[in-house]
Amino acid sequence: MQKPAPSDETIFSKIINKEVPADIVYEDDLCLAFKDIMPAAPIHILIIPKKPIPRLCDATSEDKTLLGHLNLVANQVAEDAGIGEAFRLVVNNGADACQSVFHLHYHVIGGRNLQWPPG
Ligand code: AMP
Repeated sequence: MQKPAPSDETIFSKIINKEVPADIVYEDDLCLAFKDIMPAAPIHILIIPKKPIPRLCDATSEDKTLLGHLNLVANQVAEDAGIGEAFRLVVNNGADACQSVFHLHYHVIGGRNLQWPPG
């Protein structure tokens, strides 16, 4: 398992290292999924890679397999949460797009009728 270096520390790296508790719904060698502490919908799960990529735009072609894996894990956790047929997958990239934790994460949101476009 890849451990974030101390310089990469965020609340999410502390969750990966089990220094901060989280309601974990899925874990494998590459990623972790847990319930968002401030859910925007009845189902709101975050999926994070164990590799500390700060933002999606910092990912490189080396991360191609990892990014594909995160998408398939999104399908899996949505299915397990009972929203496999209707959910939204969101990545906020950068502070101006409302990214607040600089460790890449996918939001899996569902369990109610979702509106479009988002704010
Ligand atoms: P973003 O604004 O896209 O960076 O999303 C960060 C998300 O992380 C927000 O939805 C927060 O509610 C969530 N969050 C922050 N700290 C925790 C935590 N300790 N456990 C679970 N979710 C968290």
